[in-house]
Amino acid sequence: MANSKYEYVKSFEQPDILLPNTWIVVRIDGRGFHKLSDYYAFKKPNDRRALDLMNAAAVEVMNDLPDLCIAYGISDEYSFVFHPSCELFERRNSKLVTTVVSSFTAHYIHQWNSYFSSTPLQPRYLPSFDGRAVIYPNTQILRDYMSWRQVDCHINNLYNTTFWTMVLQGGMNNTDAEQELKGTVSADKNEILFKRFGINYNNELEIYKKGSVVYRQYELQDPNPVQTSVDDDDGSGASSVVPGSKPSRSQQDKLRKLRRKARVVVDHVDIIKDEFWDRRPWILSNAPGKLPIEQ
Ligand code: ATP
Ligand code: ATP
Ligand code: MG
Ligand code: MG
Repeated sequence: MANSKYEYVKSFEQPDILLPNTWIVVRIDGRGFHKLSDYYAFKKPNDRRALDLMNAAAVEVMNDLPDLCIAYGISDEYSFVFHPSCELFERRNSKLVTTVVSSFTAHYIHQWNSYFSSTPLQPRYLPSFDGRAVIYPNTQILRDYMSWRQVDCHINNLYNTTFWTMVLQGGMNNTDAEQELKGTVSADKNEILFKRFGINYNNELEIYKKGSVVYRQYELQDPNPVQTSVDDDDGSGASSVVPGSKPSRSQQDKLRKLRRKARVVVDHVDIIKDEFWDRRPWILSNAPGKLPIEQ
């Protein structure tokens, strides 16, 4: 091992280890997708191909990184969640973020042609993503984070659906539609859609209304109403980790192997209520469930 006089520069590298025993969320977001979606003629308000491509890339990231327990995507963003017990890259912030971002971007670009065969990628307009890691100290706050993103999905989608219906079907210009929607609440938008255009917002596709949740599939559990509380950490996943204790390397390898066996699925369901989490306890507990029989 060379020990040159230049070695000292290594001491300039700053540690960026994320707080132990906390949930880590890496959120990535498409850079300049407003323009990019115009350039590649995404359909407004929702281009199904673009969402399917985002989901396909997210599934591959989950396959690449078995340490991930769940991911949630809307529009040009995806949130990837690492468990409090995760020790990948010694929990180094920049390593985790850059790995997720580059893995996602690579798969997104790799699979572009399968979804946008009529509009191949142009080298001067390539999709890229930024990313950040945020830590959440307990399961309740992690769940609130996920709920926040799903509520955002609903608010944006209702707004965008109404706006684009007024423009594309109602023949309004963008400024007039924007003006009319200013200060409106959900009920007003539902009414505009229904009364003027005969559209019942409830009948819109779930993928648009709920976003996409990506996780490993095991046998669903019976929801047990007695154990639904997420108010205290005892009913939640973080409890399976003894605070302060690190899973050994061999324990981590074993868990990774088990997780790799599970199929990664994409769902468009409510993740705000308890039911989703109660039926899939492995997501928050870090203990792999039972593989479904058909696998
Ligand atoms: P930034 O670089 O700051 O993220 P941005 O242009 O990507 O800027 P966002 O707030 O991330 O802005 O919004 C993403 C935009 O991409 C949406 O407003 C929408 O115009 C477009 N977009 C993303 N996904 C789709 C989709 N599936 N269908 C249609 N448009 C989409
Ligand atoms: P994200 O990047 O978080 O997925 P998005 O980019 O898909 O969000 P936008 O496309 O930014 O969502 O929403 C389109 C436009 O509508 C934006 O200019 C935003 O400011 C505006 N907007 C969204 N929701 C509302 C609302 N409830 N009332 C008024 N304007 C809104
Ligand atoms: Mg963006
Ligand atoms: Mg965005």
